[in-house]
Amino acid sequence: MQVIILGPPGVGKGTQSLLIAEKLGLIHLSTGEILRDAVKRGTKLGLLAKEKLESGILVSDDIMVGIIKEVLSSGEVREKGFILDGFPRTLKQAVELEQILDVLGYNDVHIINILVDENEIIKRLIGRGRTDDTEDVIKHRLEIYKEQTAPVKDYFSKKYKIVDIHGVGDIEEINNNIILMLESAKVKNSR
Ligand code: AMP
Repeated sequence: MQVIILGPPGVGKGTQSLLIAEKLGLIHLSTGEILRDAVKRGTKLGLLAKEKLESGILVSDDIMVGIIKEVLSSGEVREKGFILDGFPRTLKQAVELEQILDVLGYNDVHIINILVDENEIIKRLIGRGRTDDTEDVIKHRLEIYKEQTAPVKDYFSKKYKIVDIHGVGDIEEINNNIILMLESAKVKNSR
């Protein structure tokens, strides 16, 4: 199974992805985590991405698509399936991802879109305390989301069924809703 989790920053994509990965035995792929790890280790990618991450600007599509192509080609990911968190974030990334999925034969794709009210998002992000979670950077990231990432949902909805999930409330309850939805989709697909 391949799961893509969409939604603005701060809706709980990371938290939910980790739980889904754990419960369904999928590999959690977070592009934000990959980049933060590269910054921490001071790799070439990290040096390139550091400033962008800190100011909430997107890293270039070419770099991001290259990273995703590489991870999705790995044997373990192909064997276990994955949950993709933080990618695609632009239409260009969405178009490229569609192609990568086709070429690599991933054909059990499920898309979840998490919905949370904007005031709640700002409150949550400020409380999270990451270096890119200052009020200015948060506002900027939400703007970038609206301009560049929101169109991904419309684009994908032409090809995939996207399930909206309300992201406010008890984390486990929200997660159970997602798991039930994914499991019922699996049963339908195998009929
Ligand atoms: P996240 O952990 O998903 O909130 O991502 C943190 C930061 O990493 C973002 O604000 C971007 O600077 C960068 N980033 C993560 N994923 C992507 C992506 N798919 N395309 C471009 N930049 C990304």
